[in-house]
Amino acid sequence: MGNGVFEPATPKLLVIDDSEPIHRLLRVRLQHERIEILSAQSASEGLRMAREMHPEVVLLDIEMDEMDGFEVLSRLKTDPETQQIAVIFISATGDTMDRVRGLDLGAVDFISKPFEVVELRARVRSALRMQHLFRMLEQKAQIDGLSGLWNRRYFEQRLQQEVSEAIRHKQPVSLLMCDLDRFKRINDQYGHPFGDTVIERMAQILSSGRTSDIACRYGGEEFGVILPNTGVAEASEVAERHRAAIESQAWPVSGDLVVTASFGVCDLESVQGPPSQEALVACADAALYRAKERGRNCVQRFGREAATQRKGPGG
Ligand code: GH3
Ligand code: MG
Ligand code: MG
Ligand code: MG
Repeated sequence: MGNGVFEPATPKLLVIDDSEPIHRLLRVRLQHERIEILSAQSASEGLRMAREMHPEVVLLDIEMDEMDGFEVLSRLKTDPETQQIAVIFISATGDTMDRVRGLDLGAVDFISKPFEVVELRARVRSALRMQHLFRMLEQKAQIDGLSGLWNRRYFEQRLQQEVSEAIRHKQPVSLLMCDLDRFKRINDQYGHPFGDTVIERMAQILSSGRTSDIACRYGGEEFGVILPNTGVAEASEVAERHRAAIESQAWPVSGDLVVTASFGVCDLESVQGPPSQEALVACADAALYRAKERGRNCVQRFGREAATQRKGPGG
């Protein structure tokens, strides 16, 4: 869907240990695994790299001078940026209470020094598998089951992020709100399963645009598309392409069914009052409402009356 969903990347393993030979040893021992190995020679460097590089797994030494591994572990687990990283700790003592303490602090596993190579590899692989499942679940919770688009929850979180970025970098950001026309009628006439097919097709159209656009299912037959770094004129062109695409779809039903949708477009610069994600949604929604009033199957820019073309039957 062009939004970075399930992109396979080489997983990263961050080794935090104050002994240089351990880093060398691990590099050799893990060289044939499909992992990128990152090395931190101290606790503070490790914490910094964990935040910046987002490794899937951390191999953490317990006995370090500057700050012990337990302290590092609890810091990793309290920082929202790093708390999801799977931590395997390395202990030379083999002390049971150390292991219990590490696991209680949130580590997923431990390895004793000196390493058994096969065991080390197996434990790292197991932690990576768990991380992969975890990330898949996390992503699944943000995806709408019917359309495969991002869901409402993700939409809100992402829009907030894009609006802050736009304000910080003084760049434009636009929002399209889109609603299928007379959709109740389509459900009544052709049945709910066919209605679902229409929603799926609409989702395909909205996500087949530019790769930077973020297409979301806002609710029932309503969609929101976030267009980072895009002004309202370009956003209107994108909306017009989507409008024309849905209108020209052929449907596997008897008769010449034409499905249409209405679009409201707004950019952050045009919102009334202080720029915010809520204001952007409200203004795009108001424009969508105007598009419906104007007879549907059209694109309406916020704050502009004599706007873009209106075509076809639609309503
Ligand atoms: P308008 O042009 O004013 O938008 O008319 P409309 O009929 O589309 O209006 P409304 O928003 O009131 O109706 C939306 C309908 O969409 C109502 C609901 O039954 C249907 N709907 C919502 N979610 C789904 C879904 O997941 N699948 C199907 N098949 N229908 C859905
Ligand atoms: Mg050490
Ligand atoms: Mg509708
Ligand atoms: Mg609706």
